[in-house]
Amino acid sequence: MRLVGREKVDKTKRFYSFKYKDSHMLIYKEVDISVAHRILDYNGECENVHGHAVKVQVWLSGEIIEKGGLLVDFKDIKDIIEDLDHSIVLKRGDPLVDCIDTKKVVMDGEPTCENISKLIYKRLDCLKEKNPSLKVEKVRVWENPRSYAEFYEEENAKYL
Ligand SMILES: [Zn+2]
Repeated sequence: MRLVGREKVDKTKRFYSFKYKDSHMLIYKEVDISVAHRILDYNGECENVHGHAVKVQVWLSGEIIEKGGLLVDFKDIKDIIEDLDHSIVLKRGDPLVDCIDTKKVVMDGEPTCENISKLIYKRLDCLKEKNPSLKVEKVRVWENPRSYAEFYEEENAKYL
């Protein structure tokens, strides 16, 4: 993203807008999925396997280079996120990994809302193969309607 100038800062709306070159875009996608998990290193209910109706919100920016004037196909974003749908997300080394014969995603670190947002961020990064200018700005994962975690690279913080 090439920032060419700050237009305005409205802190009451927590909204920052910038001028971009014509070919630079920011796109947004929202996908609802169901995910099961458990937190191994946790003393409480979350150490048990349980599920969440998860809302995933993602922001990506870059230059329009694809046919049809796309930054990237929304369907490609959806497919990457839906790869986790109706799966159980487990920490590598969790004894359940070898016991459960169902759709599962194994990740480094505890499968918390925070780490799942980071996982999705990294997976979306592969879309750069289709558009090298693409940048994943932010991934927000809602564990429930009142709680979310979001992941973004520190260099993006000034745009958020
Ligand atoms: Zn949970």
